[in-house]
Parts: sequence; C-alpha cells; structure tokens
Amino acid sequence: MKFNTKAIHAGQKNEETTGAVMPPIFQTSTYAQKAPNDHQGYDYARVGNPTRTALEKMIAGLEEADEGICFSSGVAAIDAVMKTLRPGDHVISTNDLYGGTYRLFTQIFENYGIKFSFVDMTNISEVENALQENTKLVWMETPTNPLLRIIDIEAVTNLTNSRNILSVVDNTFASPYLQRPLTLGADAVMHSTTKYLGGHSDVIGGAVATSNKDLIEKLRFQVKTCGAVPGPMDCYLTIRGIKTLSVRVQRSVENAKKIATHLSEHPKVGKVFYPGLDSHPQHKLAAKQMDDFGAMVSFSLKNDSIEKASEFMSKTDIFTLAESLGGVESLISHPASMTHGSIPKDVREKAGLKDSLIRLSVGIEDVDDLIKDLNQAF
Ligand code: PLP
Repeated sequence: MKFNTKAIHAGQKNEETTGAVMPPIFQTSTYAQKAPNDHQGYDYARVGNPTRTALEKMIAGLEEADEGICFSSGVAAIDAVMKTLRPGDHVISTNDLYGGTYRLFTQIFENYGIKFSFVDMTNISEVENALQENTKLVWMETPTNPLLRIIDIEAVTNLTNSRNILSVVDNTFASPYLQRPLTLGADAVMHSTTKYLGGHSDVIGGAVATSNKDLIEKLRFQVKTCGAVPGPMDCYLTIRGIKTLSVRVQRSVENAKKIATHLSEHPKVGKVFYPGLDSHPQHKLAAKQMDDFGAMVSFSLKNDSIEKASEFMSKTDIFTLAESLGGVESLISHPASMTHGSIPKDVREKAGLKDSLIRLSVGIEDVDDLIKDLNQAF
C-alpha cells in the first residue's frame, strides 16, 4: 500500500459488529471477563483500548514500523524513551532542539544521573567526537525546531548502528508524509501527534514508532506501569486528522515555499531559515532525505531587535500568535520567549537562536491572503 492509501486505511478495519467505517470511540475504563484473565485482548484501559490500538496501527503503518505506541503527549513519549535508560548512561542530542525536550533532558533526567552532550549534529564529526563508552542513545530532531537545520539521519545511524547505540528521531516537524526515519536506519521515531498528525489544533498526544523488539517491550511495560496514556476521544481525533495528513501537508508545503521565497526577497527581512531555499546550508541533504521541505519557516528582521520582532508578531491577523504548529491554521511565534523560553539565553545564542527570531507554522489558507497579512505587518 502506498502512503496516501495507508493514511486512510492502515489498521482501519470496518468495525465488526456494526460495519462502522470509522473506529468507534471505546469510552470505557474496563472490559468484562468470562473468567479471570479470559478476555478479548483488553482487560483495563490504561493497558489498552481499541480506539488507541487503531491509532497505533495507523502510525506504525505510516512510519513503516512494526508497532506504534501512543502516549498522552509528545513529551510523555520522549519521557518514556528516556526512562529506558539507567543512571550513568550518556545521550547525544542536537543543540537546536524543541525547548520542552531540552527542559526534560536537563531539568528532569540529569537529576537521575543521565548525562547529555548537546552538539551541532549537522556536523557529523561533532557527533562522532561526542561518542563515549557509555553512550546509549542518540536523539535527533530534523528539521530542528526552530532553526530548521537538517541532520543526516543515515550518516548518524551509520555511527550508532555499528556501536549498538539506540537512535531516535523526533519526526514532528516533517511528519511521516515527508520523512520516514526508520527507512534511513533509525531505531525509532517519536511524534508530537499534537502537530501535523492531529492537524487541527484540537488534541494533545504523542507516539513512538519502532520495530526494535526490546524497545517495544520496554515501552509497553511503561504504558502499563507509568500510565501516560491518551484517552479514546483524543485517539479518535488523531485518527480523524491523519486521514487528511497528505492533502493538508501538501498544501501547507506549497504555501510555505511561496512564503519563504517572498520573505527572502523582502527588503525588511534579514535571514530566512527554510530547507527548501537554495541558500539553506543543508538544502541538498533535505532534498535527498525528505520528500519535500516542510511547512515551518523561521526568519529574522533586518532590524534585528526583539522590540521590532514583537511589534511584527502583534500586527498579523491571519497568522495567530500562539504556541504549537502543524494545524490547518497559520501560526506565528517567538521561540526565544515561548517554545524555547526554558533554554538559558547563553545556550540559545550559542546554538544560533537569537531573541529576534520569528517562527511561522504555515497552514492551508489561501497563500495570497497569508502573504498580504505578512506584508501589512511589515
Ligand atoms: N517535539 C517537538 C519538535 C515539538 O515541537 C513539541 C511541541 O511543541 C514536542 C516534541 C512536544 O510535544 P507535546 O506538546 O505534544 O508534548
């Protein structure tokens, strides 16, 4: 089955008792048993729920994984992967990273004895130099949030696979429609399903997709033991969103390309960060690794001041000033104070994230209206 068909049908059998075309919302906390432990595969809804199973099969299908395991949020999915580690284990991660992931790593897991090296993963020798005897996990995010840098998944996994180091890619920015890291050698993919998979800014969720048996076993144990699970209604909304993933992302990407080009020619714009532009340092790698360049665009103003950037963000009408991304509606945000506010200023600036940076999540509105909105804000 090709991607567009899988997005509609993967894991989606018509419901057996009624023939319902959509998976029902199994709003139940428990399931009747004929005798102790004699049940139909579900005993308690923390452990499993048929609506969640349908979503998990769908995500596994899209990421070409044996299993998908769903969580109550993207950070809960990251948390679960990190809890497979032990004190003293070392993790290599990118220095341009979603602020919430950085906060989880440095303010929770460092307290439990996990060690981190944050490096510029666009430079493969920095990754190689950071490897230690006790390196157990390499955490990639590509394209990165918010600077849209591209990490060479194949090159990184060539390093990790020969050393028995787990490699995980946060595929939230690309979505499986544009990039499937398992086919490039990664062990697992993580999603904030809140974003492109849900696609309508109405649900929070997370997922890990993998064919690594050991990881599947550990994550399933955590689902049961730690319990950060999504409710059936949230799973249903995410399934509903995934059905239109291909058409939504396609339109968003078309719009984003036009906006990135427009911004790069605008006299008031300083720098545009978009992997689809020839000027992007990893443009060729993005063209090779992704099916298209995504719908996130970051830029700075020529007058590189936080005041000017704030003024601009408060003037857009169609672009709503809000956290998050990947919905049908276009959003504008200020990474330094919003999504990445928990990263210390000196660490942010060392990674190239200036206080004046503006981030756009380009939606599926008419691109002429979006460009008009940006122009009037200038
Ligand atoms: N990963 C990336 C790249 C994100 O942008 C986000 C949220 O913005 C997350 C993970 C966390 O996901 P959630 O907000 O669903 O917990």
